[in-house]
Amino acid sequence: MSAMRTHYASGITPDMNGSTVTVAGWVHEIRDLGGICFLVLRDRSGFAQVTLVKKKTDPDLFDTARRLNRESVVLVSGAVKAAEQAPNGYEVIPQSLDLLSESDSPLPMDVTEKVGADIDTRLDSRFIDLRRRKTLAVFTVRHHVLRAVREFLESEEFIEVHTPKVVAAATEGGTALFPITYFNREAFLNQSPQLYKQILMASGIDRVYEIGAIFRAEEHDTLRHLNEATSIDIEASFADQFDVMEILERLIGSVYLHVSQNCVPQLRELGVDLTVPKLPFRRVKYDEAIDIAHSAGHEVEWGDDFGTAAERAIGSEIGEHYFLIDWPTVIKPYYTNPYEEDVRYSKSFDLMHPRMELASGSQRIHSFDLLRERIVAQGLDPDGFEFYLKAFRYGMPPHAGWGLGTERLIMTMLHVENIRDVVLFPRDRKRLSP
Ligand code: ATP
Ligand code: MG
Repeated sequence: MSAMRTHYASGITPDMNGSTVTVAGWVHEIRDLGGICFLVLRDRSGFAQVTLVKKKTDPDLFDTARRLNRESVVLVSGAVKAAEQAPNGYEVIPQSLDLLSESDSPLPMDVTEKVGADIDTRLDSRFIDLRRRKTLAVFTVRHHVLRAVREFLESEEFIEVHTPKVVAAATEGGTALFPITYFNREAFLNQSPQLYKQILMASGIDRVYEIGAIFRAEEHDTLRHLNEATSIDIEASFADQFDVMEILERLIGSVYLHVSQNCVPQLRELGVDLTVPKLPFRRVKYDEAIDIAHSAGHEVEWGDDFGTAAERAIGSEIGEHYFLIDWPTVIKPYYTNPYEEDVRYSKSFDLMHPRMELASGSQRIHSFDLLRERIVAQGLDPDGFEFYLKAFRYGMPPHAGWGLGTERLIMTMLHVENIRDVVLFPRDRKRLSP
């Protein structure tokens, strides 16, 4: 375990009756009944009840215990005693108790879940919020999601890469960029690894993935947007959009399966009954989705993106994960490959959960001339893209890929309303600290 502690609270069982243990953690609760004092110690694994009977305990130790402030950090050594009435069926009868760090009182927020707190209070004191079992459960699941993503992509022979977050040009064009000062030049925080993962396709690496920060300077104030998010990105050579859609749906299935098998206590804590979605996901053409939106009474012009209400209406009609495919070329980024036989439509898709978009992807243009033309057509300056375009002049294979929002994957999986609940230290229009 460690030099300080011998066991986590959940690692102790009643059949260890009589053995000596050292547990370490936070004082969750103190119940001083006069002749007996119960200290509930909390660590990341759960709770241990420490029981001090006045008559049988060293008076100094007893006195220290009953005067502890909640949330102080303590180290307790003592004997395990099987006790049916105690949580987990055991209690610790302490021989020593070290106060390692005393907590101030009152606390900025309650840890025991008896008193609710609003999201701002919780985020202002995130380190305390993380002591709550539900918050800890969310971030434990997040860890398992990312682990499952890596395992899946590695089994599919993707190589993990890291691309620059400080860049000279806009990826998606447009306004949603955070400018920064880079020595005596202007630079930006990257909106997505798109251009770099495409450049890597010209290198012959064939299959790359990146899990990293993306920055969007949009002033949205919604429950599903942040200004800094974590994107799971892949790019694959000698592939079309259908190849990478198939990888994406199998990834979703395998992440759900991994979480359902490895996060049983966390799902119970969160009250989530996780069912692994059935594959393959439905493929719904943009034009069909327009019809669904219209029959649900929503106005959508051909060539426009679906508004939130229309998106929800289509989602509730379909009722499970689905792909929205064959988008009009005009609303997709310049690097999206149009169908040769009808250039009004593109080889693009979004992966949708009934509640929201989870991912966007496409087959990309790999012809230098067409790509340059599309950049110009979208009103962008091709000179700014020279470093990118160069990779298309010396042998660029056909390729496809997608970007999947980690936060949206987790919030839809766990029925979390607010994206801020699945990010440790979220960044939005108003929040830059902690
Ligand atoms: P939306 O239309 O929902 O704002 P988008 O189409 O602008 O999203 P993309 O550029 O397609 O987003 O990015 C790929 C994925 O990254 C999205 O499907 C989403 O899951 C995630 N993502 C993008 N922007 C954000 C954001 N601001 N906050 C959280 N996740 C985001
Ligand atoms: Mg998108």
